[in-house]
Amino acid sequence: MLIDLSDILSAEKKEKSVTVPIEFTEISYKGNQYPVTASDVKLEITNQGKKKLLIQMEFQATLRIPCDRCLEDVVIEVPVCEEKVVDFNFLKTEENDDQDEFNFMDGCNLDVDMLAYGEISLAIPMKVLCKEDCKGICSVCGCNRNLVSCDCDTTVPDPRMSAIYDIFNNFKEV
Ligand SMILES: [Zn+2]
Ligand SMILES: [Zn+2]
Repeated sequence: MLIDLSDILSAEKKEKSVTVPIEFTEISYKGNQYPVTASDVKLEITNQGKKKLLIQMEFQATLRIPCDRCLEDVVIEVPVCEEKVVDFNFLKTEENDDQDEFNFMDGCNLDVDMLAYGEISLAIPMKVLCKEDCKGICSVCGCNRNLVSCDCDTTVPDPRMSAIYDIFNNFKEV
């Protein structure tokens, strides 16, 4: 949803509080799309003067992403409580290509979905595990070793090898 900020920009010290729903239902992670649900986004926007706006946001997102090792869905709660300062003096210099940080601004409009999407993306852990000691999928018979104990010989004597097995499993997902 786009929020027009021109009225706040027009007067210093002006504040605005809005609560808006998120309109996307999927989020991209390591090249795949996964379902996301989120609470409404609470926004507090304050004109700090000199064309700078402080944007404070708070919401809670819930993601379902498969475990890196066993591929079972993992529910990830992502609480977001962040603030950003948007400097419109800086935004005006459109020649600057390095605007990714403010890709949620479209002129005087704040794209709440883009802002929330960016924050959720940043909050997803690099490694998604259903549990710290997830046994993963057997590389021989393919069973979920958290649920079934097969008799395959997959002994990993060196802990450094488990990292290699993780890489192997990631390749299998593709
Ligand atoms: Zn797992
Ligand atoms: Zn097995």
